[in-house]
Amino acid sequence: MNEVLVRVSSEAQQREARLLQALRDAGLRLTPQRRAICHYLAHTDAHPTAQQIFAAVKPEFPSLSLATVYNTLDALVRLGAVHALGGAGDGAIHYDADLRPHVNLACLQCHRMVDLPCEAVADLNRRVTAESGYRILGARLVYYGLCPDCQRTAREASPTP
Ligand SMILES: [Zn+2]
Repeated sequence: MNEVLVRVSSEAQQREARLLQALRDAGLRLTPQRRAICHYLAHTDAHPTAQQIFAAVKPEFPSLSLATVYNTLDALVRLGAVHALGGAGDGAIHYDADLRPHVNLACLQCHRMVDLPCEAVADLNRRVTAESGYRILGARLVYYGLCPDCQRTAREASPTP
């Protein structure tokens, strides 16, 4: 029999496994709905809100309630498995399952959030940990403003004479 190549699990799969483990640690039952929420969170970089997660998972799981989305997110945030990033000018909390040190950028016009890899954040995290004595569960570093697309739209709407 040929040696089967071990499939290296992707970043997203590892993230999903971590989220499921966090729910087990929280003593929550791993229902198909909760698994689907974890799967969705692990595979998106869109920084979804609870409503967006609900809208994305609901079609496949019609019995899903918004309350389940919220209590699942609450448990994940409490355990530091997901970061709650706050709003993007839309009054809703955005969630991020990517725990690698990075900067988040929020557009106050289109309410999208994107990641910016940033080496300095890892240094900052180490420094904060060392100097505060805290056991850090997470950090939210959000810059906000207007994304390049929205700046372009604004320029096209009001061309300078
Ligand atoms: Zn924008």
